[in-house]
Amino acid sequence: MTRTLISGGLVVTAADELHADVLIENGVVVALALPGRHHWTAERVFDASGKYVVPGGVDAHTHMELPFGGTFASDTFETGTRAAAWGGTTTIIDFAVQSKGASLRAGLDAWHAKAGGRCAVDYGLHMIMSDVNESTLREMPGLIGEGVTSFKLFMAYPGVFYSDDGQILRAMQQAADTGGLVMMHAENGPAIDVLVEQALARGETDPRHHGEVRKALLEAEATHRAVQLARVAGAPLYVVHVSAREALAEIAAARDLGLPVFGETCPQYLFLSTDNLAEPDFEGAKYVCSTPLRPKDHQAALWRGLRTDDLQVVSTDHCPFCFKGQKELGRGDFSKIPNGLPGVENRMDLLHQAVVDGHLTRRRWIDIACAAPARMFGLYPRKGTLAPGADADVVIYDPHATHTLSAATHHMNVDYSAYEGRTVTGRVETVLSRGEVVLDRGQYLGRPGHGAFLPRSTCQYL
Ligand SMILES: [Zn+2]
Repeated sequence: MTRTLISGGLVVTAADELHADVLIENGVVVALALPGRHHWTAERVFDASGKYVVPGGVDAHTHMELPFGGTFASDTFETGTRAAAWGGTTTIIDFAVQSKGASLRAGLDAWHAKAGGRCAVDYGLHMIMSDVNESTLREMPGLIGEGVTSFKLFMAYPGVFYSDDGQILRAMQQAADTGGLVMMHAENGPAIDVLVEQALARGETDPRHHGEVRKALLEAEATHRAVQLARVAGAPLYVVHVSAREALAEIAAARDLGLPVFGETCPQYLFLSTDNLAEPDFEGAKYVCSTPLRPKDHQAALWRGLRTDDLQVVSTDHCPFCFKGQKELGRGDFSKIPNGLPGVENRMDLLHQAVVDGHLTRRRWIDIACAAPARMFGLYPRKGTLAPGADADVVIYDPHATHTLSAATHHMNVDYSAYEGRTVTGRVETVLSRGEVVLDRGQYLGRPGHGAFLPRSTCQYL
């Protein structure tokens, strides 16, 4: 039996802040106690005085090695989960992809093969359905039984991932019957494609036009439609990467009606804007993702949504493409820029910065980054909190240390940082995954294959 003691820190969970010592045995938190009021001994002791002791981050939206736009996201499960650990994230939920014409099973098997034996931290899988039909609908209950309980559909990307309203309704009906959760990329893809074609015909080829054609109204319209389809089907709905205030208003309205509608946003929508997309010399391509970055004035609404619980989760949608050779595929045609940003390593720090800046409380930081995503996707309380019985996925976090985000020092396999030069207050000091030390004071001690697949239960908000 291995015992680890983390002493003297401020334990912060979504529910509480308390000065407590944390005792870990065999990879599991077994007890919390008042410092000085116990006689615990351990082989390994971490002194967390002056530090926070928080649950490892849960990033519920990543795309390692995703095939997109003729190339692949540049982080593998090995490099991406290592970078996640550096940033204090100890669970990712990635997206297996069903290719058109193939089964869900084939897509899921392919992602198990990519991730198995390679991850530094634990991982779960969602399923992207790009071909809703009789046979794939029949596969959904089986996947739920295997712990793949959430299914992502796209109202965007016609010809690739797109589902029409009839297909969406059928998948939602099946989810309602079987306990699955539909995750929606809510943008009106067919309308956006018309605007893309018109913009390119006018010679508007720069990255900033990516943001202009993917209009906030078309995100809001799709969000509204997704909510109504979910109501008709009697299904819950989780809207991924909400970026527009108008789309958030649709989610808030649905929640005000008591509907099981949930929303996620991402750090890039909270910290970056169309100003970045407009950076000269094609630099804007670094910030091309969908939904797109919005004008700065949308950020206040997103922060408010996080405070009022109209948005419950902040995930990264980590989907990195190198500037050289990958983003550059779209020189002269913004529609050919691979969509996605790196971020899995930066999320915990950026959201802590939001605590420093007064946007969030400490407990809300842990809620949106750890507890709520764990609950949303059926991993709580094994993940997302520090309590007896929870996996010992623990981060000792120094709230006073400062560091500067940069491609020169990050661990993601991508040649730029979306936050280059930004100094943040707060830094991960030590990371444990199921009791094993993955990172300690700047030294990486993890290994590929430590991370295990997490079969998930269904959404715990329902
Ligand atoms: Zn995504």
